[in-house]
Amino acid sequence: MRFTIQTKLFLSHFAAIILVSGSVGSYFYHSAIENLMHALQSRLMNSASLISSSLQDAQLDQIREEKDMTSPNYQHYVNQLRSYVKTNPDIAFIYVMRKVDDKAAFVLDSDMQEPAFPGEIYEPDIATLMEGFLRPSVDKELAEDRWGVFLSGYSPVQAGNDDYLVGIDMRADEVKKKFEQIRLAGFLSLALSVILAMIFSRLLSQNLTRRITDLTTRFARIAPDEQSNGNQANGDEINQLARAFDLMSQRLEVKQQQIETNQMALRNAHDDLEERVESRTMELVQTNEKLLREIAERKHVEQMLEETSRIDYLTNSLNRRAMTRRLDQVVSQTERGSESFCIILLDVDHFKQINDSYGHDIGDQVLKYIVKQLKSRIREADELGRWGGEEFMILCPETQLAEARLLAQRLCDDLSGNPMTLIDKQLAVTASFGVSLYQPGEVLSNCLKRTDYALYEAKAKGRNCVVVADQ
Ligand code: GH3
Ligand code: MG
Ligand code: MG
Repeated sequence: MRFTIQTKLFLSHFAAIILVSGSVGSYFYHSAIENLMHALQSRLMNSASLISSSLQDAQLDQIREEKDMTSPNYQHYVNQLRSYVKTNPDIAFIYVMRKVDDKAAFVLDSDMQEPAFPGEIYEPDIATLMEGFLRPSVDKELAEDRWGVFLSGYSPVQAGNDDYLVGIDMRADEVKKKFEQIRLAGFLSLALSVILAMIFSRLLSQNLTRRITDLTTRFARIAPDEQSNGNQANGDEINQLARAFDLMSQRLEVKQQQIETNQMALRNAHDDLEERVESRTMELVQTNEKLLREIAERKHVEQMLEETSRIDYLTNSLNRRAMTRRLDQVVSQTERGSESFCIILLDVDHFKQINDSYGHDIGDQVLKYIVKQLKSRIREADELGRWGGEEFMILCPETQLAEARLLAQRLCDDLSGNPMTLIDKQLAVTASFGVSLYQPGEVLSNCLKRTDYALYEAKAKGRNCVVVADQ
């Protein structure tokens, strides 16, 4: 037969309680019985002593035969004994005995129905009774005689002269009744402890097994027992707990392995990703560098293109297009209220002759030389540009006509005063200058025409001179 843990716990706990309470109970039961016996014996001896103290040897000496029963002496003592019996219902008889040789003979007897007469020998040989002639004594156990079953106590009259004693009989049924009461109390307490043991054992076993079952349920929640199909597993609660724990451990192990596998895959994916990111980054950096290089090249080309579109290839001064744009800008600034500007136009004198005499290359060098000379002398704000073949323009922003004329004159003088050095000789280079001031509000072409005309006049005046245009 298989017991559940709950049953096992219940039975063992119940047995333990019963064992303990049984042994403790039986100890108390026996000591209670012993105490009761002791109390009864003391009471009997004490009562006997008390009664004996009220009796006189001399008076008792006079009661010897059946006929003395009518004597007032006898009546007095017997009534005394009877009244004591009446007031103590558990006492059956009180009697006084005289020692006759080795026997005891009645003197007084409280019995009303069948009193022993004075001088009647008491036949049963009871050691404690004979001891009662000498000192207080009591029966160790119940004794039987012709009057019934009793527990008796004895005490000598006038202690120690060995003649008389007082005996008191307690009814056996009274003694038994008192023992019965103790037994009943013992039984009741035993029954009570059985009931309490059952209740406590049940509560304890239920409580413990509930926790175990609870633990099993929790484990099963983590790892359900799929083989059981909802049926209760074999074995007691501990077996079930162990099975649930094993299942949970297995499940956790599988999970742990899965986690490790996933982590490994994740690490690999991460490494792979990192590699790809690194190579992609490298590619991007290279592409970016290439792009930056291309952008720089393009910028450079654009710059070169811009330069080319603005700069005259031969003299490295602004070309006519760039010069025209600058002219438009300063016209706009003047329109917005800035101070007006001047234009200086110059043309190399007899340049055709130079070409013809020295060749076109020397002619080009002459042009470069002139530009170099002019650039070194104009102001920072002024701008120099090639207006035509051997014609140059100087734009002087925010400049008065007088200032411009002075500048033109100085340039004219410098050129004529510094002939160009060729390999074997000096080449005199001069130019004619026309100067004009832009009139705010006038059309630019008008101003240019006036300048051109002033230059024409300078040529006409014999060249190598400056002519200021009429306003
Ligand atoms: P004038 O004093 O009246 O100005 O006489 P000129 O000889 O300078 O007059 P003209 O305008 O007839 O001559 C200009 C010459 O400049 C014509 C042309 O061949 C030459 N020329 C124009 N551009 C260049 C150039 O880039 N290089 C060279 N070497 N000669 C050029
Ligand atoms: Mg010319
Ligand atoms: Mg010329």
